[in-house]
Amino acid sequence: MVQQKFLIIGAGIAGISISEALVSQGHSVKMIDNGKNRSSIVAAGMINPIVFRRMTKSWRVDEFLPFAEEFYATLGEKCGHQFMHSITIRRLFSSEQERDFWLSKQELEEFSKYLTKVSSDDLSYAKATNLFGSGRVKNSSFIATQSFLEETKKWLSTVLEMVKQEFDYEKVDPENGTYEEESFDSIIFCEGVEVRNNPWFGAIPINPTKGEILTVTSETLPENESLNRKCFVLPSGNKTFKIGSTYVWNTCNDTTTAEGREEICDHLSHLTSARYKIIDQTAGIRPTTLDRRPIMGRHETYPKLVVYNGLGAKGYLLAPLLGKELADYLLHSIPLDKEIRYSRLQK
Ligand SMILES: Cc1cc2nc3c(=O)[nH]c(=O)nc-3n(C[C@H](O)[C@H](O)[C@H](O)COP(=O)(O)OP(=O)(O)OC[C@H]3O[C@@H](n4cnc5c(N)ncnc54)[C@H](O)[C@@H]3O)c2cc1C
Repeated sequence: MVQQKFLIIGAGIAGISISEALVSQGHSVKMIDNGKNRSSIVAAGMINPIVFRRMTKSWRVDEFLPFAEEFYATLGEKCGHQFMHSITIRRLFSSEQERDFWLSKQELEEFSKYLTKVSSDDLSYAKATNLFGSGRVKNSSFIATQSFLEETKKWLSTVLEMVKQEFDYEKVDPENGTYEEESFDSIIFCEGVEVRNNPWFGAIPINPTKGEILTVTSETLPENESLNRKCFVLPSGNKTFKIGSTYVWNTCNDTTTAEGREEICDHLSHLTSARYKIIDQTAGIRPTTLDRRPIMGRHETYPKLVVYNGLGAKGYLLAPLLGKELADYLLHSIPLDKEIRYSRLQK
């Protein structure tokens, strides 16, 4: 095997997943990050295989989920931490139609891995405002995002060169793949919403989608399940919970707001009458694409430049396998899935 040399810009979940895939195949990686993460660190890290709004399975979840489980377990072993935690998601139905839709889907083989059959206890569930019954999602989980980013970066810095600095696009020679005169086989851009400043990929159709999350403490919210209707309640131990999240399209401003707090509290009031105390509020920006699919591939004029972006609201589920698929494409010329190819944007 000829060892290749890569430069990766951005140490969010996108940059981490491609670095891990390249390093584990014996290649050399230098990673540059400015320490101003605006998405992966804020994310609740929930991995929900079901899209409740349409009662469908999440895109390619049968492939993404087992790969993600393996990825977080393997990295967890390397870092001496457990990053992925199972949690049942309890969906409180919003209407009779939603309940009936669930009841029909739970009979289908393809949903059997993800939907628990609704029982009489689910219908009469009393720890939240229950108008039409509830259903439980199986194989759902969450990633402890803060410790994941901290610990993984610590481990990565033992197997690759990690540089904390602002990347200077003017120091790139796009034709030859050099940065500050150092040569790379490929330069991979994983800047999340900051890709808008990128001279070669700045025009990719990212719709920056702001989200806010509250952290609360409560004596009465359930700690063994994640409640969901209009908002989610994610237990994070010691009677602490993350509640979220808002969606504000087309904004790159990530300051927390009174409107965001009120919206989350309002949604929570429809889900439960439990008392709680707000102890923190955070905001971040999701790199969402117009067609809801990630964007990956080589630049049309400068093939040494590569983009990996558009993870939207599901980065923690998608990135582990997408990192491997991008590595397979760069190292072994295995074509990327048509739906995620950067070249689809050229049409
Ligand atoms: C409120 C909220 C809740 C969310 N909840 C979930 C959830 O429950 N489950 C889930 O799977 N996903 C969730 N997400 C989505 C998830 O956070 C994203 O899909 C994912 O984090 C995107 O990762 P990324 O690596 O592409 O971008 P980022 O995490 O933004 O990483 C980009 C990195 O590049 C660096 N960078 C950018 N420009 C430069 C430069 N010029 N020089 C140097 N470094 C640079 C940044 O500092 C950053 O570290 C949520 C997002 C938000 C905002």
